[in-house]
Amino acid sequence: MTCADVALSPQVAVGAGQPLVLMAGPCAVESFAQTHAVAAAMAALGLRVLRGGAFKPRTSPDSFQGLGEEGLRILRAVADEFGMLVVTEALGVAHVPLVAQYADIIQIGSRNMQHFPLLWAVGEVDKPVLLKRGFMSTVREWLLAAEHIARRGNERIVLCERGIRTFETATRNTLDVQAIALARAEGWPVVGDPSHAAGRADLVLPAALAAVAAGADGLLVEVHPRPAQALSDGAQSLPLEALPDFVAAVQRVAAAVGRAMPTLTPEAPA
Ligand code: PEP
Ligand code: MN
Repeated sequence: MTCADVALSPQVAVGAGQPLVLMAGPCAVESFAQTHAVAAAMAALGLRVLRGGAFKPRTSPDSFQGLGEEGLRILRAVADEFGMLVVTEALGVAHVPLVAQYADIIQIGSRNMQHFPLLWAVGEVDKPVLLKRGFMSTVREWLLAAEHIARRGNERIVLCERGIRTFETATRNTLDVQAIALARAEGWPVVGDPSHAAGRADLVLPAALAAVAAGADGLLVEVHPRPAQALSDGAQSLPLEALPDFVAAVQRVAAAVGRAMPTLTPEAPA
């Protein structure tokens, strides 16, 4: 079985029969100006799916928790200006209707992969879901989490391998590239997230290339206009200036494995 295609919009789909989908944006939405700067850099390269957290799952309650609904408003306004789609996280069941109101794709975070009431809630929404793998979850648990969503009627599910916790501490997580191939073989489209896997910007490109070589149907990458000042995940965020070379390198590997990728020029609005 090869992975099925999932429509993210009438114009954009992700899956085996589709071009590689590059989703990019800041870890957290911090301001209109920050989000706008990222989207402008993406638009210049023809990238059409804007990510950004408005509700952030932070390890410490002292860390920046996100702008909440204001962050959703910023994402929507910026994405609409550039004709982009929005992917953003719903942190809890109570957030689902609000996030669904603003987002095109609802992200379920790694820490919530087995939050079953949340899976059931997004299973009843008519929006595609990006289901991140729990960083301590097996592939089987990840696929069964996807089934929980699908059983409620929503089969527009894209899986995201974002690195798992291993004995290795030199990197934030370990990108499980085999899991990408395995989950695709089970019929799901899979996106690789090299940013949360690597935890450091200099390793994001090699991790991204490995994901694409392993068959990933897309990538989710964190970028920030000033990574050193980012309110979350600055160390792993690519600066905007790195984006053109990043996209060009990904495109070369995509071509090598027979995967089309949209051109580097802006396209019609999504
Ligand atoms: C994120 O995408 O910013 C995020 C919080 O990711 P994860 O759930 O994979 O840690
Ligand atoms: Mn992040």
